[in-house]
Amino acid sequence: MISVTAELFALFKALAFIKAHLQPQKVVIYTDCLAALHLIVSPKAQSARHLLYEIQTLLSQLLQENWVLCLQWIPSHVGIRGNEIVDKAARLALTSAAVETLPLQEATCSRVLTVASGKAWDSDLAAELPSSTLGAYRMDSSCHPWAHSTARALDVALTRLRIGHVGLASHLHRLRLAPDPYCQWCRGQEETIAHFLLHCPRFHSMRTELRDHLSILAVRDFTLPVLLGGVGLNNPLRYPVIHLVFLRKSRQLHRI
Ligand SMILES: [Zn+2]
Repeated sequence: MISVTAELFALFKALAFIKAHLQPQKVVIYTDCLAALHLIVSPKAQSARHLLYEIQTLLSQLLQENWVLCLQWIPSHVGIRGNEIVDKAARLALTSAAVETLPLQEATCSRVLTVASGKAWDSDLAAELPSSTLGAYRMDSSCHPWAHSTARALDVALTRLRIGHVGLASHLHRLRLAPDPYCQWCRGQEETIAHFLLHCPRFHSMRTELRDHLSILAVRDFTLPVLLGGVGLNNPLRYPVIHLVFLRKSRQLHRI
């Protein structure tokens, strides 16, 4: 949106320039920003309203002074000599200390700050996550697949599975809270998160049902990164299938 605001500001400056320095005549102003032109003719534009008001006021004044104005959209300005010169001048102007500040509405400022802080946060996360258990499932701060905000107990369980702090024997044994790390149903098998979710025969029927649900969602891989983080999925699916089908039906929620 800020780029459209910048385009509108450029159109405003162009109109202000011709009004201040030229006599009424035929003028064509070219822009490659179709969105800016749509906003100028839109009666219900919600963004950059202050700029639109200034532009529409200037247009009205110029037309009353017998100017013949045309705002012309050009799909691409590559190869047009005049535009190449203007682009070069714009890049040069960025090094100037006297760059004119672009007036932004509060809502636009808020969006810009939100995006910038989100990027900074994701950059910090990207640096820190690989050294944590959660790094196997999370790459940034976007919403996790499988989240289900209306079932907090289930969401908490899923988060605990992601960070590895669960009440399964392997983890409890590491903390010296269990006499051994083994699954109570599988002799000699450590009860890890992978064993619980992927292998333990005790939960075979629930796992089969979960696979069926996932295949309906076109999810074929049955791995921890997919089950806990939706890693590799094209769309961040947010169906609570893992919670409802497996965790709840396994009746092991109290141990997670
Ligand atoms: Zn087992």
